[in-house]
Order: sequence, then structure tokens, then C-alpha cells
Amino acid sequence: MAKSLTNRSRRAQIYNLPHQSYCSDGTCRCVGVKQHAIVRDNRSGAVGVAVREKRLGASIHFSAGESKADLPDTITKCPEIAGALARRELIEPKPATKTTEPKRPVEAKKPVSETAVGPK
Ligand SMILES: [Zn+2]
Repeated sequence: MAKSLTNRSRRAQIYNLPHQSYCSDGTCRCVGVKQHAIVRDNRSGAVGVAVREKRLGASIHFSAGESKADLPDTITKCPEIAGALARRELIEPKPATKTTEPKRPVEAKKPVSETAVGPK
């Protein structure tokens, strides 16, 4: 079941989503980042650029009052998200439930009496 979260604070918030908790269901949602390094070949002395890809934990951004839906369940296991939920900065809105009780018909307004009491 996907989670929904709402930022109740009046500020934009960014939360780190570490791999150990956010990806604990087996799906890695980390971000691939390319690292560039200058390397020198010891034999020839040639200088070049080596590119390595590294995986970094993801993050999530909420604008003030923003709601996000369809988030993975593991998001609440992330320490910063769990702390924000405990502080009520973030809330999980309850899913809308359908009411089984039919609405009562609106009673017609009674005509206003024309014998209004006023100053004499
Ligand atoms: Zn990951």
C-alpha cells in the first residue's frame, strides 16, 4: 500500500532517504551520481579523466503545505521522516472513506416574517 504524506509546516522541507531504510524492501531507489577524477598513467605519464558512478541515498522535497502520494511504504522507516511524523511536521492524511449513511435532504427555508419589529 502506497503512503501519502503532507507537509504541515509553513516551510519547505527536505528529508534524506538513506539506502538502509528507504530501499529495505529490495528495490533500490538511490540516485546514481557520476564522479570525475583526474588520473595519471604511471607508465606513460598520460593524464586523463576517470568517471565512476556512485549510488547515493535519495532525498525528498516538500513545499509548504504540499502533499505527495504513491510513496513507498519504506519511507516511514527513514529516520528523518519518522522524526518529522513524530513532531507532526509531516502527517499521513487518512484515505477518503465513503459514507454509507444517505445525506438528509436540506429543509426548505421558511419565509421571513414581514412583521419585523422595528423602532417606533
Ligand atoms: Zn538504495
